[in-house]
Amino acid sequence: MNEKYRRLKQKYNDIDKQISNLHAEQREIRNLMEQVCTHENVIKMDIDPFLHIKVEEETKYKCTDCYRYFTEDELKVAKD
Ligand SMILES: [Zn+2]
Repeated sequence: MNEKYRRLKQKYNDIDKQISNLHAEQREIRNLMEQVCTHENVIKMDIDPFLHIKVEEETKYKCTDCYRYFTEDELKVAKD
């Protein structure tokens, strides 16, 4: 491979790394958001009838503010 390709490829990989770091940072922020969120805007998730996976069936609510998923029980606890 020529030098120009190598430089571009290096740049490309550097951006990949930055994106991955940003995703990690975003996950941390989301965790902090979950902790302080009042979960006022929770929507009921539609269960995909083709997905009969137990985990999917238990996940029934999603907070549209912090993006956390709740089961019915978890939601009760979170709202108390
Ligand atoms: Zn929330």
